[in-house]
Amino acid sequence: MTKPTGLVVHERYFWHDAGSGAGFGSANPYAQPDRHPESPDSKRRLLGLLEVSGLAERLTRIAPRPAARHELEYFHTPRYIELVERLSSGTGGVIGESATIGPGSFEIAQLSAGGCIAAVDAVLAGRVANAYALVRPPGHHAEPDQGRGYCVFGNAVIAIRHAQRVRGVGRVAVVDWDVHHGNGTETAFIEDPSVLTISVHQDRCYPVDAGGVEVTGNGAGAHTNLNVPLPAGSGHGAYLSAFERAVIPALERFRAELVIVTSGLDASAMDPLGRMMCTSATYRELTRRVMAAAATSAGGRIVATHEGGYSNAYVPFCGLAVIETLAGITSGVTDPYLDELMQTAGHELLPHQTAAIDAAAKAAERVGSSA
Ligand code: ZN
Repeated sequence: MTKPTGLVVHERYFWHDAGSGAGFGSANPYAQPDRHPESPDSKRRLLGLLEVSGLAERLTRIAPRPAARHELEYFHTPRYIELVERLSSGTGGVIGESATIGPGSFEIAQLSAGGCIAAVDAVLAGRVANAYALVRPPGHHAEPDQGRGYCVFGNAVIAIRHAQRVRGVGRVAVVDWDVHHGNGTETAFIEDPSVLTISVHQDRCYPVDAGGVEVTGNGAGAHTNLNVPLPAGSGHGAYLSAFERAVIPALERFRAELVIVTSGLDASAMDPLGRMMCTSATYRELTRRVMAAAATSAGGRIVATHEGGYSNAYVPFCGLAVIETLAGITSGVTDPYLDELMQTAGHELLPHQTAAIDAAAKAAERVGSSA
């Protein structure tokens, strides 16, 4: 019998308060304060659709646990951890650039990182074939000494270090399909030859000066970092080409024992923060391709950690497509937006997108080679 797919989720994930906002920034004298874009809604609605579709009851629930302080220190400085804890025990506050927490966020962020650790443990123990950690707050922008881009702790980084130091895993690959660059994950492993970090993102979005194709790793970690910056407006064709020509060849060369997908769902055509055109069909196909690559070296061991995704209407359908594919189950739910989104002109691969993918494909050819 095939093993089930694991799901990590916890009510507390929806209780983290990222503050108020206006659009993707802060309120200012002319921008009326609104809910912060990183609100619980899109994630809670994804969980809702998993339940309504019947998929949730066919997944194996994995209980999260709080990450211990020494586990947070796999990536973060004691000074930063203490700042988060101190502000969280009061009324909350600013923990870095574009990152604010509320009361109790420290414990919730511990549970978010610990949820990713629990997902990794369940997959490595063989209790589940793969897992989706529907965690919050997100993690891929967090840096060692500060929160950043709505992220508190580097959930995926901490889970990878746990896999390596406690579970004895050697090589790990990260595929980050969030529309924003995975700067925190890149920083963690830029000199580390044991972790391949791949980020496919909107070129010059956030962080604006990060994520260039020329950043390929330093020192011993040379050629173990792959950035695939795509022009704004990239859709189904560009994403499939980027995976076919750069992401999957890099994964196949690196031969990781465990694949982590930092799963931001903000490259969708309905996202208020991204300017890309992906649909649930895109995410379904990207998941299928990563699974095929992971089947060879990693025995199919994939853990997806939820990152961004700000369309309350569409994150649920993109997330359902990813999780259905991981589980090999079709729930029967039809994406009500898919036809209209796919009929938009510009989904086919366009010449300026090909030029960007050419550069990434060239960098991907060197993955796994020595400096
Ligand atoms: Zn994002």
